[in-house]
Amino acid sequence: MKTYCRECLRKTNASSGPCPSCGTTLQPTLEEDEIRPIVQTLHKRTNVFRERISTGLSFFIVGLTFVIIGLIFWRLSYKLDQDTSSQIVYNLAYNSAEFFVAMFGMIAGGLATVFGAVWAILWAYQKRVIIHDVDEIRKSKSLTVSRTPTIFEVWFHGISHAIHQAQWKAKRKKANRAK
Ligand SMILES: [Zn+2]
Repeated sequence: MKTYCRECLRKTNASSGPCPSCGTTLQPTLEEDEIRPIVQTLHKRTNVFRERISTGLSFFIVGLTFVIIGLIFWRLSYKLDQDTSSQIVYNLAYNSAEFFVAMFGMIAGGLATVFGAVWAILWAYQKRVIIHDVDEIRKSKSLTVSRTPTIFEVWFHGISHAIHQAQWKAKRKKANRAK
């Protein structure tokens, strides 16, 4: 559980005492009319997160394009070995321009892809945290909020739930047929 400071809206592990950031005394319980402005301020933060998610996705897509171009050039850097006449032999030409482009594309593209993915996932989670917290603050009328499950936990939960339900349905079908 973490508690938002009502002044600076930073989250802390403590739920009472002074806020470590601004010193305001933490007081989680909210009056009805206090909820709206706090929720609005928190919601505004998601705009920044949305931009960062877009940046991450752009890096991801551009990076992936570079990786694909790199792979194509990797294929192109195999040159026909002219010296062997009996059979066709292709050798990787390490000193060719194609090989240089391939290396650049795969390394720079790979890094951009990984960075973009991590960046997008990280800020998507931050956005989810705000949405989750706002929902809890509204419901509980308190600035103390629980931990937001990651999207992977949500997926895992959803998948295992679906499997359980399918198993249960199959069992029921079997029981009905046996009757
Ligand atoms: Zn504070």
